[in-house]
Amino acid sequence: MPDGPSVAYFSMEIALESELPTYSGGLGVLAGDTIRSAADLGLRMAAVTLVHRRGYFRQALDARGGQTETPDAWQPGDGLEPLEPRVRVEIEGRGVEICAWRYRVRGVHGHEVPVYLLDTQLSGNHERDRALTDSLYGGDHAYRLRQEVVLGIGGVRMLRALGHPEFDRFHLNEGHAALAVVALVEEALGASGDASSSERVIECVRRRCVFTTHTPVPAGHDKFPAALGARVLGTATMQRIQALTGRSDLNLTELALLTARFVNGVAMRHGEVCEGMFPGYPIRSITNGVHPATWAATSFRALFDHHIRHWREDPMSLRYAVGIPCTEIWWAHQRAKQALVEVVNRETAANFDLEALTIGFARRATAYKRASLVFSDLDRLAALASPSRPLQFVFAGKAHPQDEEGKSLIQAIFAAAKRLRGRVSVAYLPGYDMALGRLLCSGCDVWLNTPRAPLEASGTSGMKAALNGVPSLSILDGWWVEGCVEGVTGWAIGTDGHRDAASEPDLRDARALYDKLESAVVPCFYAEPQRFREIMRSAIALNASFFNTHRMVLQYLYDAYRERPESAGT
Ligand SMILES: *Cc1c(COP(=O)(O)O)cnc(C)c1O
Repeated sequence: MPDGPSVAYFSMEIALESELPTYSGGLGVLAGDTIRSAADLGLRMAAVTLVHRRGYFRQALDARGGQTETPDAWQPGDGLEPLEPRVRVEIEGRGVEICAWRYRVRGVHGHEVPVYLLDTQLSGNHERDRALTDSLYGGDHAYRLRQEVVLGIGGVRMLRALGHPEFDRFHLNEGHAALAVVALVEEALGASGDASSSERVIECVRRRCVFTTHTPVPAGHDKFPAALGARVLGTATMQRIQALTGRSDLNLTELALLTARFVNGVAMRHGEVCEGMFPGYPIRSITNGVHPATWAATSFRALFDHHIRHWREDPMSLRYAVGIPCTEIWWAHQRAKQALVEVVNRETAANFDLEALTIGFARRATAYKRASLVFSDLDRLAALASPSRPLQFVFAGKAHPQDEEGKSLIQAIFAAAKRLRGRVSVAYLPGYDMALGRLLCSGCDVWLNTPRAPLEASGTSGMKAALNGVPSLSILDGWWVEGCVEGVTGWAIGTDGHRDAASEPDLRDARALYDKLESAVVPCFYAEPQRFREIMRSAIALNASFFNTHRMVLQYLYDAYRERPESAGT
């Protein structure tokens, strides 16, 4: 659709390839999948991010699950195209020069979406500014804010310097990118040359901006004290932002909410929760997805190529999986499972069995995701397993270097694994990245998800699992509120009661988890293999056909990017 709207997409992290450490987790993977689908669909899009020369980090785990981090340095010169233009931003009163590298994402029909990775590693820059595009989510508050100046303000200026025609929309993927608005307002003010028209200028910026918020967890929203804002941005810019937001501190979520004409959460439930968090703003929901061709295991790609010819360009047609014989889905699954079992047995001492019910959990190790919930009552868990009905668990996930609680969760899993030895096998694979994500999401029999509701905005790993015929066993939160058809696409843990104030929600949810394993999941897997395979097939037909980024990007196009009749001229 060459005459559709053009979109500049800003994201602090973008997962381009598993080996390029330019992402930490869900946000970056979603950004990458969005761009991959936009390229497949022929959308006019250009994306901006930072190069992150030292990556997020490499995770090492000791015998007790203690995490240590080392830089994940890479050479953008190996594979990315260096570009000529240089742009400048002011940070702490110093001029900082920025250059960019180009990565081209090619769609199924050859359409390209360029991704520009901004880089301050230039000899003209002050030494501390050269390190600004080194570490994703590293450093302190001030480092983060300076990175956000490079991304937002530097990003807009770089798109101009590269000669891109004017964009119809600027999509701010999470508040990190909100300072793009500052550059857009400055451009518009400069053009009008008349400060008295600032209301109209802001309205004109507003009409072009789209903002997606990704988490109801307060720590996920960047807020900076006024003094830091003034120091990094300069007093004039800080005052302009204060006039705009009507608050003294620098709150990037608030800034984006105020200056975007379209704001959305990333699942139905998340949109509702956001309206409660940000009263007065109309907030829509566009549920996340995953890029099917990226996340299908080799055996499932072959299966879909055979049965659903156009699934790569039209993943909505995965609906036709209803016609794939269950035995073929089962054999494709067994191949994916074998690949996982081989890795687990090579890298750990867990001694996995290809025939045993295998439950997977891979997520950022952080408190609200409750990775250790399934180990709340080890005796009850062990009693669910028997020599004829073995159970095995595989985990992965990094804790942010400053998240001590997240780090102790990994240790809790190692401790549980030790106590369960001989009764239930538990493995933890270090270094969760896209490649490991695909191995895990396709190689398990059941995908476990136990967030503390309503804190999981969407979650996307369960969608990757569904695409590979792996049903979820999940708390009703995020995407699962929409994706769960009980006993058909997977299983719910507990009821949809996120508004109930239980005195001990963890205990309640753990009990519900054991109940569901005992009454439904374990007997279905071992005693009703035909029904289990039908559930696998429905996970593909009902969930993968909808929870993909093609559908999601088309919804953005329809709801957020195109000029809608009701918003035209108002
Ligand atoms: C998909 C993915 C995520 C996000 O998974 P959630 O279910 O949203 O937590 C995080 N990290 C990696 C490496 C992934 O592939």
